[in-house]
Amino acid sequence: MSAEFDLIRRHFSRPAPGATLGVGDDAALLDLSPGNQLAVTTDTLVAGVHFLTDVQPAALGWKAAAVNLSDLAAMGARPRWLTLALTLPQADDNWLAEFARGFYDCAAAAGAELVGGDTTQGPLSITVTAMGEIGPGRALRRNAARPGQDIWVSGELGDAALGLAALRGEILADLADQAVLLSRLTLPQPRNALGIALTMGLASACIDVSDGLLADLGHILTASATGAVLRWPDIPLSAAARHFSQMGDFATRVLAGGDDYELCFTADVARRSDLDKLAGRLGVRLTRIGEITALPGLHLLDETGREMTRSQSGYAHFNA
Ligand SMILES: [Mg+2]
Repeated sequence: MSAEFDLIRRHFSRPAPGATLGVGDDAALLDLSPGNQLAVTTDTLVAGVHFLTDVQPAALGWKAAAVNLSDLAAMGARPRWLTLALTLPQADDNWLAEFARGFYDCAAAAGAELVGGDTTQGPLSITVTAMGEIGPGRALRRNAARPGQDIWVSGELGDAALGLAALRGEILADLADQAVLLSRLTLPQPRNALGIALTMGLASACIDVSDGLLADLGHILTASATGAVLRWPDIPLSAAARHFSQMGDFATRVLAGGDDYELCFTADVARRSDLDKLAGRLGVRLTRIGEITALPGLHLLDETGREMTRSQSGYAHFNA
């Protein structure tokens, strides 16, 4: 390891009071709170595959932490610790300072601390492991959806996919819309407080929407051996996204575009008023978008209640 790469460590050596031993030894030492299990998840971001190579380093640092914290949110685990393995073509001091700032900001917002990691020279790639705590039997699993339960989603869907489309020049957004859509793409907000609250007897199954609602809800349906009916007119959209609702492939971009990092979860009908109250308490929009069915398959209904079909260009109204 060159002296240059030794310098990198400087940027990632902030104290971690929540660890018995953090960065600086051969391994971190971590004590779980009594009666808790460790929830562990890991994700790799590769330049040119998961992000554009000219992305702002602070945004990249934020997103690397956020996508992992979002997986903890989906389980309902309380974020505690992160490790970071960073492969870089060269050690650029300014780039690293910005990346570290974004990473630490996102971690701090979720109450997580960086406790270890590694740096290597090579094509830019980032691997983060996130660790959280949860009481035994409390985790929100994908296999817990039951027929008759409501399907809910947090926040709004499609902004990140539309932001990517704007970056690629596929859609033309005005400056105000572009700012909203791009911030949803580059600075996703992991829903950790929501995930933790949902473990208090509110939700059954849960997943974070990283690959698009249809794909991720599909994982819940497969694991739970159930089906679903979704109502397209109930899908929550931002004002910025609505400006593109006349595009032919709008529904596909919203439902299959991905990178939303919202939570999709199922809950008993009896939990509706509790969930509405929770939305108010957390300041997070929670929307009922459909129901779990005993019959397998995912059916998407338009405003007239007719099923929308999947064509080569994606989901569309039957007659469109
Ligand atoms: Mg996930």
